[in-house]
Amino acid sequence: MYRCLRCGGTYDSNELTRTLQYRGEYQGTAAYETERSCPACGYDVEYCGEWSDDGYDYDELL
Ligand SMILES: [Zn+2]
Repeated sequence: MYRCLRCGGTYDSNELTRTLQYRGEYQGTAAYETERSCPACGYDVEYCGEWSDDGYDYDELL
């Protein structure tokens, strides 16, 4: 799960606002990085472990 650094809300990875940031070209291919932010206030979030043992692997696939 992720925790907002401003409002302290905790969210599952699929609840976060995602923004695709262009990072320039890398070896001839456009490179993008997904930034996650708080759906409530839009501030940065930090990863703070999974809710439970079953986890969510798909959040790294985007
Ligand atoms: Zn927030």
